Amino acid sequence: MKITSLSLVRGNAAHFALAALILLLPALAQAAPYKRPAEDNLERVLANSRREQVKSVNYALHFTFRKGQDEYAGHAVITADLSTTKMPLSLDWLGKAPDKISVNGEEIKDFKTQTGSLEIPAAHLKPKTEISIEFTNTFSKEGDGIQHVVDPEDKAEYVYTDFEPYHAHELFPCFDQPDLKAHFDLTISAPSEWKAIGNELVDTQKTEGDLQVTRFKTTPLLSTYLFFVGAGPYQEWKDSEGTTPIYIYARKSLARYVDVENIFTTSKKGLRFYSGYFGFAYPFSKFGLLFAPEFGWGGMENPGAIVANERNLFRGPVPKSRRDGRDSLILHEMAHMWFGDLVTMRWWNDLWLNESFATYMATIAQDRALGTSTAWQDFAGGKGWGYWQDQLVTTHPIETEVKDVRTARGNFDGITYAKGGAALEQLHFFVGEDGFQSGVQDYFRQHAFGNAEREDFVGAIAASSHKNLNAWTHAWLQTAGLNRVSAKWACQNGELSSFSLLQEPSSSHTLSPHRTRVGFFHKENGELKLIKSVDAAFSAKATKVSLDAAIPCPDFVYPNLDDKDYALYSIDETSLKNTSLVLGGGVKDPLLRLLVWNTLYQMVRDAQLTPARYFELASAGLSQEDDDNVLANILGKHSQLKDAYHQYLSPQEREQIAPAFETAIWNRVLGADKGSSRQMTFFDFYSKTVQSKSRLADLRTMLEKNTPPAGIELDQDRRWAILLNLARHGDAKASTLVEAESARDPSDSGRRFAYSSRVATPAMDSKKQFWKAVESPEKIPPSTLRMAAEEFHQPDDLKLSEYFVKEYFQRLKKINWKKSDQLVEVYFESLFPRNLCSKTLLVQSQAELKSATNLTPLARRSWLEGNDELARCVKISSHR
Ligand SMILES: [Zn+2]
Repeated sequence: MKITSLSLVRGNAAHFALAALILLLPALAQAAPYKRPAEDNLERVLANSRREQVKSVNYALHFTFRKGQDEYAGHAVITADLSTTKMPLSLDWLGKAPDKISVNGEEIKDFKTQTGSLEIPAAHLKPKTEISIEFTNTFSKEGDGIQHVVDPEDKAEYVYTDFEPYHAHELFPCFDQPDLKAHFDLTISAPSEWKAIGNELVDTQKTEGDLQVTRFKTTPLLSTYLFFVGAGPYQEWKDSEGTTPIYIYARKSLARYVDVENIFTTSKKGLRFYSGYFGFAYPFSKFGLLFAPEFGWGGMENPGAIVANERNLFRGPVPKSRRDGRDSLILHEMAHMWFGDLVTMRWWNDLWLNESFATYMATIAQDRALGTSTAWQDFAGGKGWGYWQDQLVTTHPIETEVKDVRTARGNFDGITYAKGGAALEQLHFFVGEDGFQSGVQDYFRQHAFGNAEREDFVGAIAASSHKNLNAWTHAWLQTAGLNRVSAKWACQNGELSSFSLLQEPSSSHTLSPHRTRVGFFHKENGELKLIKSVDAAFSAKATKVSLDAAIPCPDFVYPNLDDKDYALYSIDETSLKNTSLVLGGGVKDPLLRLLVWNTLYQMVRDAQLTPARYFELASAGLSQEDDDNVLANILGKHSQLKDAYHQYLSPQEREQIAPAFETAIWNRVLGADKGSSRQMTFFDFYSKTVQSKSRLADLRTMLEKNTPPAGIELDQDRRWAILLNLARHGDAKASTLVEAESARDPSDSGRRFAYSSRVATPAMDSKKQFWKAVESPEKIPPSTLRMAAEEFHQPDDLKLSEYFVKEYFQRLKKINWKKSDQLVEVYFESLFPRNLCSKTLLVQSQAELKSATNLTPLARRSWLEGNDELARCVKISSHR
């Protein structure tokens, strides 16, 4: 899976101690029968015991979809070998009670259902058991499981599934755990003008009445979370790489925006590269990408039918960074075809084996197979997510115990993806190219179509590289938190006389072994020239770095020059004085400039640098930076600069800074080459952040008269971005314009923008309306709910936010969190009134958390993280 929002889902972390306990629990042999709780959850203890009980699973599945219905019919025939028939068989199932169940040819009535499961009594079981289940069920309303979406533009209906980590059992009864891989025989009956899509190629097709019956070929062994069912009038495109057919699907109304040629090219290059690098031919019979309506993640790696977010279909010209982002997504999901799909983690504690790899390998593939020179810059940018997560009170080791699937859901986070990716970079660096690549190849050969654990992977790399990786495993995978590293140095007689690296212990009190490269720079004709770089390994609190040759006293030192290390490096006082020179283009290496940008932001968050000083440096940098990808990282989707602007400056400070800041950006729009990526990057940032009255009025006129600066096309997405910003600032004509725009753009993207614009409006009525609507979240499409919730609190509208504080906490303590993990994100990230940034709120929120009795581990973790971010903001504010 790939996440596009930096913190889309976070979850429970406090579960490490359970590891030992689970190992001690009685295995099947001594079985005191396991009493399954009535909830939609799967505990590892049951998954383990079921793995012993059940072998050689096959699913023959038939689903029937008809137009205009909110339910579907299903028939599942499950065959399996059972190691014991003395205990009942528990299936995962979240749906209506089945209409009919037969076991080994005989109908049974004494099956038991409860929330989340279905139990077949032991009396009916045989060593080879066949269970036939007929059922009808409703489509999911929450963005997971089986989705049914109606396109508001042409009323076309689309069905597709999304199952990770634990949602396949919302479509059909099954053993929904990754290590009970099965063959799937899928049949779909659907209206004849619809396409039926599965993991496999179509085997046969025939017409029955008004339905078309499509039978797919049998899949190789797959985990349930990777099974896919899709149906609807999707547009299809086809190409191939060698003998592998490649398919693209998108809904009809977006077909004209599908950049078919580029998507095929990236897919073909990626397939060639991975097959070669992994020494293992593409393991499935087809490669497919489906851009799915209302899909909230970045992508999902179903073999043969990857699901991707429609944000990757651009409705107008976009900067190159957006196309690079789409390539990165495709290569990430494609890497999963091997890491995750071919070889799958046994249980969710090893999720990092999937995600770290996909993240790291996608960067290698982008660099080597597509020749994207900026791939490592983007990787460095992505580490920010890891740094952020790893500083929270809820951080956890990369390798972590996961007692149940609800906990698993919380681990799709910055540790699993970004820190894990950084750890692999260190491993690769440590064992060398050959050791890494041949270890990976051995791993695939040994575990193809099976399951594996960390020991298997690290063991393969250790064997191929002849290195002992125990210390590495402990330092990188089994401890939480990160180290802060700073440089301390002095000069004498114009030469560097001493240089030390100081390391602070991580939140788990660990000092880690690091390898880094320190760069020493000297000022010359307005530039900073690299005089020398020195490699340094350190693991102590303070390490004196030996300098072989004399180094002239530097003007600027950067202690993580090529970004090989994962730690929070700061910039020393002397170097800080020359930082504006770095950002102003005085350093030629764009990666280093980006690293310095990121370091400054981290220093703000650590209260080592005031936001005001940061913006002084940033303004200078923004007027000079000439690398498009550095700009895309600073100003693009996950802009730290924008976050700092809205979170860490008070409204008064922002008002003071705004005129110069906006002018600097606008001048870059006008000065850039017409239609260039750079011009679009600056324009898009400008239209999202501008707040001065006169500039907002200009923006509105530009929209009304369609008079953008030469080179910029006001396509539908840009028009909405401007409108949304006008709405946020209470522009008098915003609501009229939003209504007019809705008529012009009836697509569901248009609906989302229109709805969100109303929520963003600084008026009590709009806020109250949304506040009420969120009480029935199932009535709002999930992606609309997420986007609108983001707009509820605005940086300057403190009075409006204050009004809801009391009710907010009341609601947090009343919601039945067990019923919805989706709401966790909405409430604890988007609706948390972080903009208030006040000590009083922090104290109140901590007290409310203490007295709450209704929280799931995921909700508790997210609340703690909300408090943590609030505390940081308070600390930064008191510093300014
Ligand atoms: Zn992934």
